[in-house]
Amino acid sequence: EGKMVAALRKLGGDYILDTNFGADMTIMEEASELLERVINSDAVLPQFTSCCPAWVKFAETFYPEFLPNLSTAKSPIAMQAPTQKTYFAEKMGLDAKQIVAVAVTPCTAKKFEIRRDEMNSSAEYWDVPKMRDTDYCITTRELAKWLRAEKINFDELEDSTFDPLMGEASGGGIIFGNTGGVMEAAMRAAYKFATGEDAPQTLIPFEAIRGMDGAREADVVIGDKTLHVAAVHGTGNLRKFIERMRAENIHYDFIEVMACRGGCIGGGGQPRVKLPMADKAREARIASLYTRDAEVQVKAACDNPDIQKLYAEFFDGKPMSHKAHHMLHTTFVNRSEDLGPNGACTPATCPTSVPNLKKAAEAAKAAAEANN
Ligand code: SF4
Repeated sequence: EGKMVAALRKLGGDYILDTNFGADMTIMEEASELLERVINSDAVLPQFTSCCPAWVKFAETFYPEFLPNLSTAKSPIAMQAPTQKTYFAEKMGLDAKQIVAVAVTPCTAKKFEIRRDEMNSSAEYWDVPKMRDTDYCITTRELAKWLRAEKINFDELEDSTFDPLMGEASGGGIIFGNTGGVMEAAMRAAYKFATGEDAPQTLIPFEAIRGMDGAREADVVIGDKTLHVAAVHGTGNLRKFIERMRAENIHYDFIEVMACRGGCIGGGGQPRVKLPMADKAREARIASLYTRDAEVQVKAACDNPDIQKLYAEFFDGKPMSHKAHHMLHTTFVNRSEDLGPNGACTPATCPTSVPNLKKAAEAAKAAAEANN
């Protein structure tokens, strides 16, 4: 982490902030939203996580009926960026219009996410319509290429630390990159919000929800409620999970979904290795995040002093406040029409399927020959 921060400074970053801080913000909002839904008998359950943009688009296309179930809380980078251009800019005396916000992620889908129309909360705050919350998203693989192009030797860099205000994260924010990590982090915060006490040892570590099985599930007792929760990774596993949930009419309160196997540690933007990505490699990355979580004192996002300061000074004192809702929550789009009039794109109906592209090419060739 220290070398990554040093590398980003060397590449020209004026301020280097921690995306895990954004993860803590996501947990603050998502855990609060979950408790609201659980308490309110009319609310839609289960609540699905929505921090994975690939899963969000998958739901928008294939499962639009679940859009009311998606947490409206934005993802870590999508909360971090507008907060940088408002709270951080004000605190540091910076002109938000001069800020170029770059997110470094393990994820290719985040390039799509930052271009969504909804990701413009800082534009509304400053009334600068063309401002985007995040200006660029580069993957960790692209960062590695960039460092090579600039002839920066990563291994020789002296460790550097994040800038203050948005540079410290809880253990919950750190494990966000693992399948099951968002769920575990959310339960730590939800427990504290609901009971005023730290989550018990059964939740830290939350063993039932850790691991590489396609879907893991558990019951969590918080106060007088028992929540049935699950964590799923990989869209193939997700389809099977949803089919079973429907067939057996299983009630869940909260479901974490990550499109990539293992979670973001296995993201499509991560540096490529010579050997095919195997679970052994994913598990090693996961273990390193859990080790780091075990080392830090602050386990829950709501106990992060920088998060407490942000909410006290900028978001009207609490998650889900009017201001937090406006800046940190989002909306979704039903994209099921993308599948075509029959509701499913088949090789026969899809204009970009290989057989139809071949047919179109042959027709174009025949037309050209006829013209000659
Ligand atoms: Fe991106 Fe994969 Fe993480 Fe989803 S699970 S946010 S697609 S890296």
